[in-house]
Amino acid sequence: MKASLHRPTKAVIDLSAIAFNIEQIAAHIPQSVQKWAVVKANAYGHGAIPVSQHVQGLVDGFCVSNIDEALELREAGIAKPILILGVSSLEAVPLAIQQQITLTVASLAWLEELLSQQPNLTGLTVHIKIDSGMGRIGFRDSQEAQQAISRLQAAGAVVEGIFTHFATADERDASHFVAQLSRFKEILSGLAFLPPIVHASNSATTLWHSETIMNAVRLGDIIYGLNPSGRVLDLPYEVKPALSLESALVHVKEIQAGAHVGYGATYTSDSLQIIGTIPLGYADGWTRDMQGFDVLIDGQRCPIVGRVSMDQITVRLPQVYPLGTQVVLIGNSGAELITATDVADKRGTINYEVVCLISDRVPREYKK
Ligand SMILES: *Cc1c(COP(=O)(O)O)cnc(C)c1O
Repeated sequence: MKASLHRPTKAVIDLSAIAFNIEQIAAHIPQSVQKWAVVKANAYGHGAIPVSQHVQGLVDGFCVSNIDEALELREAGIAKPILILGVSSLEAVPLAIQQQITLTVASLAWLEELLSQQPNLTGLTVHIKIDSGMGRIGFRDSQEAQQAISRLQAAGAVVEGIFTHFATADERDASHFVAQLSRFKEILSGLAFLPPIVHASNSATTLWHSETIMNAVRLGDIIYGLNPSGRVLDLPYEVKPALSLESALVHVKEIQAGAHVGYGATYTSDSLQIIGTIPLGYADGWTRDMQGFDVLIDGQRCPIVGRVSMDQITVRLPQVYPLGTQVVLIGNSGAELITATDVADKRGTINYEVVCLISDRVPREYKK
């Protein structure tokens, strides 16, 4: 889908904020640790190509979730290592070899199927995934992991890394985290061959369990200036949110007491009121549960009244504003601020989902 460029609705991405955030993290972890920027899902909605191009000099590599995301980066000229975190389809393997994209190997069943089709894996680089307690993908014991490593090496692949992923690094209670860490270490110690790059840290682990940083970190949410715990844990250092979501008033009117607004006529004015209409709706990722939340206009909070439509929302204004007046949905206006975490709280979800759901219809505008 093409972005709708001739509408005032846009996501503004501050690339220098992402660079600043990476530099902040780099200043707080040992210099020898490799930093990988996680740019899956279009860099959490921020735009994988512009983000990767802007930060490639600050990181050692990139992580994505699938081969298409990796190929998108290669086509854009990104030459740094790229690791696919998820399970790849077998047809991705020749592409990975050709484009020097690193695959994750997470099960013997997958590897056996691959080897039955393609016994020679020369040119392929892989990382082994260990399931230390997340329960999604990965080897759950040393024996199977070592068997995979041996078979990969015998087939000519380079086993460059081994990693795990924590389920609760963003929570106050560390007990599951500690259990996962000790399981990971136990599995590593049972291997005859330890791959050179060992990594376990996402943003939360890098921030709050720095003792767990091994020799690489996979940085997602935090580089976009978001707190991966929402409000549960405080950030140990400052980061800057990189994304703001903006639009403008395209229609302003006065309605009488008793008048209704929106589908279902769920809002009834109890007085003479001024209603503004904004060209953004659930098709842009501004979901229907945003009814009752606020937008910022002229430094003031204005409530979203009536249902969120596919393409439009309606807000109650404190006064008449001219058409074209700026509306901030995420970001600053005067002294007021709405963060992705505020939006997430309203929806009962996490800031990750808020930024990822901003749809392709919303153009991204880049600030350096
Ligand atoms: C998405 C992902 C990350 C990044 O997570 P953040 O919480 O955004 O830092 C790291 N590792 C794996 C395996 C992931 O899937």
